[in-house]
Amino acid sequence: MTSRANHPTGPQTDAIHAGEEPDRDTGASSPNIVMSSTYVVDEPVSFSVNNMDEHTPYIYSRWSNPTNRQLETKLCVMENADQCITFASGMAASTGILFSQLKSGDHIVISNTNYPGTAEITRNLLPKNGIQVTPVDTSNIEEINHAVRSNTKIIWIETPSNPLLRITDIKATAEIAHKNNAILVVDSTFASPIATRPLELGADLVLHSLTKYIGGHGDALGGAVLGSGEMITRLRESGVMHYGGTLSPFNAWLIMRGAATLPLRMRCHQDNALAVAKYLESHSAVEIIRYPGLKSHPQHTLALRQMDNFSGMIAFRVKRPVNTARKMMDRLQIIHYAVSLGHHRSLIYLMETEDLIQNSFKLENNELKKYRDIAGDGIFRLSVGLEDYADLVHDLDNVL
Ligand SMILES: *Cc1c(COP(=O)(O)O)cnc(C)c1O
Repeated sequence: MTSRANHPTGPQTDAIHAGEEPDRDTGASSPNIVMSSTYVVDEPVSFSVNNMDEHTPYIYSRWSNPTNRQLETKLCVMENADQCITFASGMAASTGILFSQLKSGDHIVISNTNYPGTAEITRNLLPKNGIQVTPVDTSNIEEINHAVRSNTKIIWIETPSNPLLRITDIKATAEIAHKNNAILVVDSTFASPIATRPLELGADLVLHSLTKYIGGHGDALGGAVLGSGEMITRLRESGVMHYGGTLSPFNAWLIMRGAATLPLRMRCHQDNALAVAKYLESHSAVEIIRYPGLKSHPQHTLALRQMDNFSGMIAFRVKRPVNTARKMMDRLQIIHYAVSLGHHRSLIYLMETEDLIQNSFKLENNELKKYRDIAGDGIFRLSVGLEDYADLVHDLDNVL
């Protein structure tokens, strides 16, 4: 299934060949894009999603599309998952999970710092729909344990988390979830399947923004969720068929091309990030740095255990961050001052504390103090790309 080879294949081979095969009619070596929205059928197929399952033929591209299926197969092999469903964006994947799994009266435990979009939906939209939410510092397993209630349906973690790169112990969290009849969802966007495969550690669903490392080139939005056949089929019915956040086949094709080089890119992201992190750690202007691959990361030991690759994300703090951000916008020549991450181009952005606290995280009291102790007034999120690391250091040296 992973390729046409009759022996177990390695991750680089899988990333390239899984889900793809030469076109049966033309012999074309690289995959075609199937842009068709509808399909000619030779027997009647029900209109209702209730009658569809994984064996339903292609009938309409919101249900399934051959190019999207190829990408889904490739991702299944890379994540060691039973099934995968793709979405138009990472956020479509998040809302697909949240609104198909939760109903009024349910409870969710979630990282208290995470991707702002996820933070805002869970802090604002879920409570409006009668769903209770408890944000906790999930890097502290005791806090998760303490927050779980009898109506908890989901524990949702992001590891490493945005923007402080906190690591959550996936295995220990899965045990807490399952003891309490809840499911564990892991947003693994910052790690990629090369670093961590949460399903192997007990997670029930893994989520990726394909816009980041997996696509890897900053030219296509996409999202994916992976897990057991039963859960993914349910997600395909409500999360995609009804909510409609279907991935464009053109984007699936671009993301598939990106995914083919993910193992090679992650190796370079890690090597570059480690070199840049060491440079930043020794720079007098840098007050705090967080990179899971540095011994100074508070959870370096857990990172060593849970991550096969430390990925390319660095968080660091300097004095007067707004001034430095201005300098970066004016003077950086290689690194783009832009949001997003995981691209071949290096990207940097100031995550201003007040903005995140007020609008996204809504942290209070001790949690707010813990966040401010690290982030101060703002923390820079640097997504280290694939350029020559000496050029990145040179660029940063001009603005720090
Ligand atoms: C970017 C991101 C998302 C959202 O993905 P989009 O593709 O931008 O919708 C979700 N989680 C994390 C951790 C992200 O970095």
